[in-house]
Amino acid sequence: MPRTILHCDMNSFYASVELLQYPELRRKPVAVCGDPTSRHGIILAKNEAAKKYGVVTAETIWQARRKCPGLILLPPHREGYSAYSKQINAIYGRYTDLVEPFSIDESWLDITGSMHLFGGNGKAIADEIRAAVRKETGLTCSVGVSFNKIFAKLGSDYKKPDATTVLSPDCWRETVFPLPVSSLLFVGKTASKTLHQYGIDTIGQLAQSSPAMLQELFGKMGQQLYEYANGLEHAPVRPYGERAPVKSVGNGTTFSHDLTCWEDVLRHITILSDTVAVRLRQHGLYCTGVQVMIRDPSFRTITRQKQLPHSTHLARDITAACMELLHSSWQMPHPIRMLTVTALNLAPADQWSQQLNLFSAVSSEQEHRAEQLEGAMDQIRAKFGAGAIAYGAAFAEQQLRKSQKKKNDGPVFPESNP
Ligand SMILES: [Mg+2]
Repeated sequence: MPRTILHCDMNSFYASVELLQYPELRRKPVAVCGDPTSRHGIILAKNEAAKKYGVVTAETIWQARRKCPGLILLPPHREGYSAYSKQINAIYGRYTDLVEPFSIDESWLDITGSMHLFGGNGKAIADEIRAAVRKETGLTCSVGVSFNKIFAKLGSDYKKPDATTVLSPDCWRETVFPLPVSSLLFVGKTASKTLHQYGIDTIGQLAQSSPAMLQELFGKMGQQLYEYANGLEHAPVRPYGERAPVKSVGNGTTFSHDLTCWEDVLRHITILSDTVAVRLRQHGLYCTGVQVMIRDPSFRTITRQKQLPHSTHLARDITAACMELLHSSWQMPHPIRMLTVTALNLAPADQWSQQLNLFSAVSSEQEHRAEQLEGAMDQIRAKFGAGAIAYGAAFAEQQLRKSQKKKNDGPVFPESNP
């Protein structure tokens, strides 16, 4: 029997939360941004009216203002967003215990086992949830109703704002097949481009393409894409609060300028290794291997792995191993467009403790200091936020970004207020 999965996506979440305080601005173009007083501040979110002017997330304020001179700017209030997020997920929780948040403003709900308690109709339940969210929070959401997570997500994207879209087991094809491949979750710009080179632009074309070819192009992900496009995806919706098991921890960056010298590479590897190490420590995990993925501007990609002499959760060790891999597999100044650092072979701390003891005999004062240093950094971050302290080279960059921050807590109107 097909499942009934909902994907609920809040509409312009950050902007809508901010606008609850300024109902009079609701119909005007409004954006939430990092620092409303700086022309270089970044747009974090925008309302529907601002979208109509072409304002997009992550552009600078002056770029946005060029398209929309009347744009009103609001500073963000992060605590408010998580409070509303909790409240909204609690509303979902009245309908099923299988509520899996995907981000702060999106969740999947599997209502297969409970829908008979609420009338038995997926669309009616989705509409009821939308009404409850609107009544209790003043915020709107779009809901997709389908038989797997991928199509439910597609459905919530299909019609915005404040709408329900059903993609049912019998007639999803007529809606889904004409859509561009990029509307599938996890199909990014790069994958779309690659698919386009093979004449695949729509989900229908993807569904009819050869799984073997997709596998050749994208590895394991290729098989998944084929399943997504054919409605064969069947991942479960996890119960609220249950985390996916961590198999590897990785982080990557595509650079706006190609890297052509080792100093730049070291700087970025340090930043990436630090975020990976922080996440290992957050999960209480150690790794015994690292992997780097290197991509040049023409998308030539190489991946190199290395076993470590002992398990670690320290940025220092991950950085060193990655740099060793890079030095032995890349010729400078051949440009680098993208780097990814992944920690492999993860195991919880207690599993390694015996091995660690073996090493403690040889582990020097230096080792102990590195543990203390990165542990202290975690504590500072826990207290003052992720940006409070950064490892080595990452520090200067964050300082630069923070240097323009000023305190402001109300809307900032354009100079000539329309
Ligand atoms: Mg949203």
